[in-house]
Amino acid sequence: MAIEKQRIDTRLIHAGEPENRICGAVSLPVFQSSTFEYAGQTSYDDLKYIRMNNTPNHDVLHRKLAALENAEAALVTASGMAAISTTLLALFSPGDHILVQDCLYGGTQDFIVSDFVPLGFQFDFIDADDPASWEAKLKSNTRGVYVETISNPLLRVADLKSLADFAGANDLISMIDNTFATPVNFRPAEWGFDISLHSCTKYLNGHSDIVAGAVIGKQDLLKKITHKLIHLGGSLDPHACFLLHRGIKTLAVRIRHQNRSALTIAEHLWNHEATQTVNYPGLPDHPDQDRAKGMLEGFGGMVSFELKGGLTAAERFMQRVTIPIVAPSLGGVETLVTRPATTSHAGMSPAERQAAGITDSLIRLSVGIEDTQDLIDDFDQALNG
Ligand code: PLP
Repeated sequence: MAIEKQRIDTRLIHAGEPENRICGAVSLPVFQSSTFEYAGQTSYDDLKYIRMNNTPNHDVLHRKLAALENAEAALVTASGMAAISTTLLALFSPGDHILVQDCLYGGTQDFIVSDFVPLGFQFDFIDADDPASWEAKLKSNTRGVYVETISNPLLRVADLKSLADFAGANDLISMIDNTFATPVNFRPAEWGFDISLHSCTKYLNGHSDIVAGAVIGKQDLLKKITHKLIHLGGSLDPHACFLLHRGIKTLAVRIRHQNRSALTIAEHLWNHEATQTVNYPGLPDHPDQDRAKGMLEGFGGMVSFELKGGLTAAERFMQRVTIPIVAPSLGGVETLVTRPATTSHAGMSPAERQAAGITDSLIRLSVGIEDTQDLIDDFDQALNG
């Protein structure tokens, strides 16, 4: 069956695999060779060498990731931050100005403020939920716009369709961090985005055992980003490629379980007398619920909430839960719980966190694939006891 007709579950397993199985191996072996015999290549980028991102382990991932998001091309990188920083440095020149969403992952925001700007780039924050305000932020040197599909940790879903249209109308390169949604719940290229970015450390790999990233999107832009990555050196090691390849195959099974489980848990917490607020795009009182329903195929595995007892109650809850692991990061098979103020958003100043609505007592859950009722029972004993 032609790949274009296959659904994502089939593509996850078969897209991009080598046509001829190597020695009949069902799983692609790890090509742990830094260099390969010279075969007459005429350009530097085509030499077969791990840093050029072109071993068989890289190639299969590039083809598979592009197929998963219905995009033209893809590139894997040494981390999500390598994907993000290399993309920004490859696509823009000092003096260029970009628009960025005002509630980004803390590491991305810190990179833009502390590294990108001192190199001579300019940026302005936008409220990605307010299309009427974007035009006024445009400058003669504005070249790009950067958003996230589902914001971390408040789980807002911006007006992404209007944003991609606005970028197209104003000749801006549109970039979106699709880590939280994954290609199962949202495929940026289908909505008009030029570039989709991932921390594959999270859902794409799904097993909390590697750090990796990906850039997926237009062929001409990927060519520039690949060339920059070759110079900056943020390539993914073939063994990590192998683990990522293995993890990706179960993405749809994991994500559909996590979508269902997180919704059930969010509803339970929402009805619990100990909670003050629960943030989850699938809840009826979420400000973006209608938009999320129209754009996402699932609301994802992340939930954040505040307890009535504030910071003391949050710390008590985190000490009392027995199934979730108190740890930063997200997207693995095990449920993780964290306070973003001390982990993902610790790089922001208290004033920046306050402006973004991230309180010290906010708890963030990354729902794993454990039994949903076991998690709910564990949360209840932690809240009620
Ligand atoms: N993007 C998002 C939304 C993230 O949550 C993270 C990490 O938490 C990153 C990017 C950075 O990814 P990595 O840690 O793989 O560099």
